[in-house]
Amino acid sequence: MIKTKITPPDVRLKPISEAKEKESKENLKLVPLGGLEEIGRNMSFLEYKDEIVIIDMGIQFPEEETPGIDFIIPNTAYLETKQKNIKGLILTHGHFDHIGAIPYLIGKIGNPIIYATGMTKALVLKHQNDFPHATKLNIINVENGSIVKIGNHFTAEFFGVDHTIPDTAGVIVKTPVGNVVHFADFRIEYDALGEPQDLGNYQRIGKMGVHTLMIDSTNADEPGRSLSEKIVEKNLEDLFNKTQGRIIITLFSTMLTRIYEVLKIADRIGRKVVITGRSMTENIELAQNLGYIKPAKDLIIPIEEVNKYKDNRVMIFTTGSQGQTNSGLMKILTGENRYVRIKPGDMVIFSSSAVPGNERSIQNIKDGLCRQGADVYTSELIDIHASGHAPAEDLKTVIKLIQPQFLLPVHGHYFKRAANAKIGADLGMSKDRLMLMDNGQVAVLGNNSFKITKETVPANYIMVDGLGVGDVSEIVLRDRKLMSADGMFVIIAVVDRQTGKVKGEPDIISRGFIYMKESRELLGQTRKKIKETIAKTATPGASINWVYIRNNLRDKIGQFLYSKTKRRPMILPVIVEV
Ligand SMILES: [Zn+2]
Repeated sequence: MIKTKITPPDVRLKPISEAKEKESKENLKLVPLGGLEEIGRNMSFLEYKDEIVIIDMGIQFPEEETPGIDFIIPNTAYLETKQKNIKGLILTHGHFDHIGAIPYLIGKIGNPIIYATGMTKALVLKHQNDFPHATKLNIINVENGSIVKIGNHFTAEFFGVDHTIPDTAGVIVKTPVGNVVHFADFRIEYDALGEPQDLGNYQRIGKMGVHTLMIDSTNADEPGRSLSEKIVEKNLEDLFNKTQGRIIITLFSTMLTRIYEVLKIADRIGRKVVITGRSMTENIELAQNLGYIKPAKDLIIPIEEVNKYKDNRVMIFTTGSQGQTNSGLMKILTGENRYVRIKPGDMVIFSSSAVPGNERSIQNIKDGLCRQGADVYTSELIDIHASGHAPAEDLKTVIKLIQPQFLLPVHGHYFKRAANAKIGADLGMSKDRLMLMDNGQVAVLGNNSFKITKETVPANYIMVDGLGVGDVSEIVLRDRKLMSADGMFVIIAVVDRQTGKVKGEPDIISRGFIYMKESRELLGQTRKKIKETIAKTATPGASINWVYIRNNLRDKIGQFLYSKTKRRPMILPVIVEV
């Protein structure tokens, strides 16, 4: 149930040049706390004498094997003991895998100054607002091109990189041993003629002399170059022009650059835009307020008005590209959205790719859409999505321009980072300059050296669930507390895959909650409620999403029992499909 961290065998490359390099007096520590053995939870820090600078503070989304866990955050135990030394937190961009852990961690490490560009700052502040008791943040607004002194020993210079969210910033951290460059998440954008953009700036950075390049490995195992957003936009427009039906487009709500482009296309082809899904609505509003998105007047209409327009005059933006159970698209599919339901002739476009682990949920939602008569288009079919992360050829271009002494692949599992190191090797970098680290390992950087030491700092998973932050034992404790206070309520229902209905009567097992024999009436009502809830969520004709049904059952039956008993037993739904 609970994820334990498995440390892979130590197969990293040993620096062979240690002896050759003259031992330098200046020593800088570099420690990745997360993001090197997973996707997400990105955070690392640099330490020189009594000063520390942190880069990013992200979360990792849970996998299906961690029920009850909302997400995973970096371990800051080491930094907590050195609060007064922390001089700043640099943020590269506003994606949650880079900023999402701030509300949980910033107070624990002494609330240091945060350096962020405009869009990133706005997203951090918005997220912080969801936590009424969280620390008040101290953010310094920087721009790409800004140079700021952090503490006595560090200077940060920000530079723009292309990614899927505006204002993404790479950073050159100038340290006493040399420049450590972090390339954020990035891709290379090509113009319509296939010419790469912004390379001049990267060349300039290379000329400054780079000690260590920390570089995105998310797509290092993908061959070729980034697909141009211009091509994605053209393909989307061609696709839009093929239908007289409604267009429903789903993508990540943080892909604001593409969202803006698609808004412009909608305006051009004479379709009004409806936005549904909480994060989509909020992020577009935020970007609008900051001036990053300037939609034509009256282009975006309230959802209540959607049915006033002909199908070929409507485009609907929604969340749910990963098949998430509580997303806008899922609500449209299940009929929970009051204004929009799928009807034959709708064109549903996934302008996204599957985050590993979500394939099954995405398949479920695509099946459901098709069964209800929608035409579904995905990026496997046609180039309607470009990743925000550079594939091999683009990585090669950047490494060539930056010419670092040492290459430190970050973001992604060992396999991806090894693929990234191989790109360095192909460019002629010797093995002792290609650094494959694990989370928590301490590297010591000298003027011309990079040594991965045996020293480690705590970097194991910290799980966060709805109730708060803790380690595994605290969550177990929470469950025990819940059960001892209000008991446990197990629902076992046999559901017919074809009809989506419960077969026979659901079984109920209760411990420590109610005395079953005296609660016949309540149990009868609960069984009825269970059957209703399942029938409502498992739309006949649509494919059935069992995770969604279980979650929904837990919520609905929880509310129902609370309304009847004012107690909250721990509810465990078990669904048997036949
Ligand atoms: Zn990103």
